[in-house]
Amino acid sequence: MQTNRTFTMIKPDAVANGHIGAIIDQITKAGFKIVAMKYTSLSSEMAGQFYDIHRERPFFKDLVSFMSSGPIVAAILEKDNAIEDFRKLIGATDPQKAEVGTIRQKFAKSIDANAVHGSDSDENAQIEGNFFFSAFERA
Ligand code: GDP
Repeated sequence: MQTNRTFTMIKPDAVANGHIGAIIDQITKAGFKIVAMKYTSLSSEMAGQFYDIHRERPFFKDLVSFMSSGPIVAAILEKDNAIEDFRKLIGATDPQKAEVGTIRQKFAKSIDANAVHGSDSDENAQIEGNFFFSAFERA
């Protein structure tokens, strides 16, 4: 099932460093329409739930602690081929390996504090969007 939607978060490092505006600008200029957006914070319990798939990974504890360290911006985005195009726009997980001009290359400092999240599949985009937004907020 293809929905043409993806889910993103601007992570605590990028929010703290004042990059919200520049990142949203780059996202909309790349042709993504904002369907829903909110500025909020994750408790460590919520961050653990969001990243449940990584629970057994060695970096899980650091990831939860980082993602609950400050405010984030959560958003649902719409565009043809949204998942793939957004992953291209943000660049590799490790900003050192991200292509020049990508959001992570421009705004991220390290593999853990990597500025933005982007869903890796249609299924996960839906699960992640539902985690943050009620049915009427994402209509
Ligand atoms: P993504 O889909 O590109 O975000 O990457 P993954 O799904 O593989 O990992 C999820 C998130 O976990 C990444 O965006 C990073 O914030 C974090 N992460 C991944 N690898 C590492 C690592 O080796 N160390 C730490 N501390 N965090 C990591």
